[in-house]
Amino acid sequence: MARAQGPYIWDADGQRYIDFCNSWGASILGHAPSAVTSAVARVARRGLSFGTPTEAESILGQLIQKALPSMARMRLVSSGTEAVLSAVRLARAATQREVLVKFSGCYHGHVDSLLVKTGSGALTLSSPDSAGVPPTLAQRTRVLAYNDIEGVKELFRREGQSIAAVIVEPVAANMGVVLPKPGFLEELRAVTTSHGALLIFDEVITGFRVAFGGAQTLYKITPDLTCLGKIVGGGLPLAVYGGRRDLMEWVSPLGPVYQAGTLSGNPVAVAAGIAALTQLKQRNPYKALDHLTAWFVEEIEALAHDAGLSIRINRIGSMWTLFFNNAPVVDLLSAQRSNNSIYSTFFQQLLEKGVYFPPSPYEAAFLTTAHSRAVLKKALTSIEKIFKKLPIQ
Ligand code: PLP
Repeated sequence: MARAQGPYIWDADGQRYIDFCNSWGASILGHAPSAVTSAVARVARRGLSFGTPTEAESILGQLIQKALPSMARMRLVSSGTEAVLSAVRLARAATQREVLVKFSGCYHGHVDSLLVKTGSGALTLSSPDSAGVPPTLAQRTRVLAYNDIEGVKELFRREGQSIAAVIVEPVAANMGVVLPKPGFLEELRAVTTSHGALLIFDEVITGFRVAFGGAQTLYKITPDLTCLGKIVGGGLPLAVYGGRRDLMEWVSPLGPVYQAGTLSGNPVAVAAGIAALTQLKQRNPYKALDHLTAWFVEEIEALAHDAGLSIRINRIGSMWTLFFNNAPVVDLLSAQRSNNSIYSTFFQQLLEKGVYFPPSPYEAAFLTTAHSRAVLKKALTSIEKIFKKLPIQ
């Protein structure tokens, strides 16, 4: 791809696509929103990287803290992976325990301990367990099915004393979008608290996406630690981890958990983050995005029905996944029962018609504030034509 603007992305040959990937969810304001690009240009002229703290970091921190009050203290880093690995190290240090619990199909970046039955690109490429991860490390990660609270309780009964933390995408998005069943997150909160383990919400996708305050505000759950990425950096490399003050005081130099980064809190990335969050706060587009996305996916469902296709769309706010599946998708196993070869044909044909959907059936699609109803109607016309030619499952 060569450039992007609003709801569109152009390839190197000049072909334009309606973009439903939007930098894997980072661009909620559409591509290159002027409020963000002008802030970036203004700040870049004053210096690209100082290697020292800046006032702007505190401004961004305050914006984040107002939106997600559970983040009493936080650290800026450069990628979601870095946020997660730092949170995991902190959790292990603060609990003096080693075992981590994750859910199959959830992706938390390419962190060694968490590249076990992971989602996203690794799952698409059939490598949910990565080469190069020492088995001794992977053995300290327990993997359970998403939404299986009984499995969580059983595991805690067996080895609750050794579990440092449960890490979860509060709404899973890396096996396609999978919503938490009612009570799942509440029960996770209760079981971790009662066993002295930490609850880490990986809100790299859901933060500032499902609501300004992320999934934790929507579902009213207070995690111990939170990881943010994507939207929080306004399209530049910036991510955040943070949470309870007593936990964050374990981080160096106050405490013994080391973590640092040359480009952490980089002024240009911070300027992009402040501009993006300020826009979101002022415009509060969440209700409108929810309505527009609901309309869009209902139209897709109607077109699939008319074409005799079985699909399921899981959605929350402006993120969703279309599964070629005739049963509910509630975890990785049910996601994997979808017809991926039809998805692949669908994706390729859409691309030829100038519509860029997620290139994997295990990814979320996103709408942005730049996707007007007129743009979406154009995409629907292409989807209708392709649906009519797909084989009926
Ligand atoms: N956590 C989640 C939920 C993600 O979806 C991702 C990336 O897609 C990450 C962590 C890793 O973030 P990054 O790609 O910035 O390292």
